[in-house]
Amino acid sequence: MSEILNKLDYWSDRITDRMMRWLPAQLIQVPVAKPIVSFTFDDVPDTALTNGARILEHHGVRGTFYIAGSLEGRREPGRTLISREGCQSLAEQGHEIGCHTFSHTKVSHMGTRTLEADLQQNKGYLDAIEMQDKKRNFAYPYNAGSFWARRVFANRFQTCRAGGERINRGAVNPVFLSGVEIRQPEAHAQGLTAWIDTLVAEPGWLIFFTHDIAPQPTEFGCTADTFEKLVSYSLAQGCSVLPVRDALAEFGAERL
Ligand SMILES: [Zn+2]
Repeated sequence: MSEILNKLDYWSDRITDRMMRWLPAQLIQVPVAKPIVSFTFDDVPDTALTNGARILEHHGVRGTFYIAGSLEGRREPGRTLISREGCQSLAEQGHEIGCHTFSHTKVSHMGTRTLEADLQQNKGYLDAIEMQDKKRNFAYPYNAGSFWARRVFANRFQTCRAGGERINRGAVNPVFLSGVEIRQPEAHAQGLTAWIDTLVAEPGWLIFFTHDIAPQPTEFGCTADTFEKLVSYSLAQGCSVLPVRDALAEFGAERL
């Protein structure tokens, strides 16, 4: 029975993905003249701060960290989630703090009222770290959006990032930005420089996302060497490396 439910869930996510990308929405224009790369982190494990943010800062650039308040300090196999102080230090270093829901529940599994309450709770959590007048950027837990709640997201956030393994170019739906995952195996993660080559050949906005940056990463992260390679390669190829917030400002696509 649970296998059937899992299959239904899988297909419902696939259909939502198609609908969110292709149905009419208020689109933003991603310029195709200049390659832009964003490095983003979901959840966020503490090694994204100690290794990921450190590597970005070493290169004089910043990233976007999508935080789910309920995960604060949680210990899981292979990773520990970031503390409140860790989030504060990210913000102080000029990194962007984004929203990833409070509960880290798949958004299509929450009714609108529960979803609104959850997003409000995380807003409170993030405001206590860094007060923010503008709308934040958001990343969907499990990269799965909700067609029925799309207006909730359009109203609350500047952009919402999913997965999809695509580069954003031209007219895109800000409530369903595409992302490319940096994950295991390590040889695969190292080979993601090919995405940067594609971006340089045909510019747009490449949003990488990952989790932990550790010597023995979980399957959803990579090593510091690989992360360093992707950041330095992006810069060496002439890409602008910007947090999501600054990329939007760069191409005048901030939504008020
Ligand atoms: Zn997540």
